[in-house]
Amino acid sequence: MKLNLLCVSVFVLCLVGCGTKNRVLQSAVVVKPVQILGARDTVVHEVKLTLDSPTLVIEPAVDISPIGQQFLERTLTPEEKVQEQKRMGIHKGADWASAIHYDLRKPNFVIIHHTSQNSTAQTIRTFQVEHSKVSSHYVIGRDGQLVQMLNDYERGWHAGRSKWGQITDMNSMSIGIELDNNGREPFPDLQINSLLNLLDTLKTKYTIPHTNFIGHADIAPNRKDDPNVFFPWKLLAERGFGVWYDESFLVQPPFNFNPIDALKIIGYDVSNEAAAIRAFKRKFIIKEVNGILTDYDKTVLYNVYKRYY
Ligand SMILES: [Zn+2]
Repeated sequence: MKLNLLCVSVFVLCLVGCGTKNRVLQSAVVVKPVQILGARDTVVHEVKLTLDSPTLVIEPAVDISPIGQQFLERTLTPEEKVQEQKRMGIHKGADWASAIHYDLRKPNFVIIHHTSQNSTAQTIRTFQVEHSKVSSHYVIGRDGQLVQMLNDYERGWHAGRSKWGQITDMNSMSIGIELDNNGREPFPDLQINSLLNLLDTLKTKYTIPHTNFIGHADIAPNRKDDPNVFFPWKLLAERGFGVWYDESFLVQPPFNFNPIDALKIIGYDVSNEAAAIRAFKRKFIIKEVNGILTDYDKTVLYNVYKRYY
């Protein structure tokens, strides 16, 4: 009796398994002979597959000469450039079987900047002129006005050449926020309150870890000094954005504490040690921003390191 039951179970399992396999085979249409060529090739095909009717549709091929290509590149709108980039993301040597479960990539970092300009309008103009090649997701004015310039899911051009931990393409991972500030002045409360509201929304919406709210100077210590020394990192950390040290628990680090290793573990690019130290001091020590760590600076660094990393 037990043996019979076992045989029936195996048979049913086999039927279910075979049925699943067939369904998978039906929906996974492998397209072999199709050329999917990138922007620099002479022929571009559009490939369309639908689940309901897994038939292959090839749109009429478009011939693009090198001169035509140059013209195309000059006249593409941002939306067309993104479409072109998506085509370039298809690997020519691979067969194509379209997956159906995906969405856009989410930001996991927030990078805070100051604009080094004199008004929100001036910053917006800078981000809209062809030759500047810079952009940011948000600009916040001195009066707290919040202007969005890119969808959160789009890749802004605000970080430039930068590194944090092992991440070398911060633009792909982050949202950029520019604070209207000439680089030498404090940030008004209205502006900071507007920033905190925005950070709250972004942190919740994209589940961004609190340690991943950092400044441009943190990720590009050789090149950048924004946001300037007046930026209230302590207040931000108290609200859950970024890190700060425990002022009531500063102790001398143990003799084997290596401050450069600690900076590296926190995320700083220490290929230029003095620059990394300057970035750390600009943020946490504020006075005497230079490339040398005093004993006091080391107690702060040790505290941050032990507290969060
Ligand atoms: Zn910046």
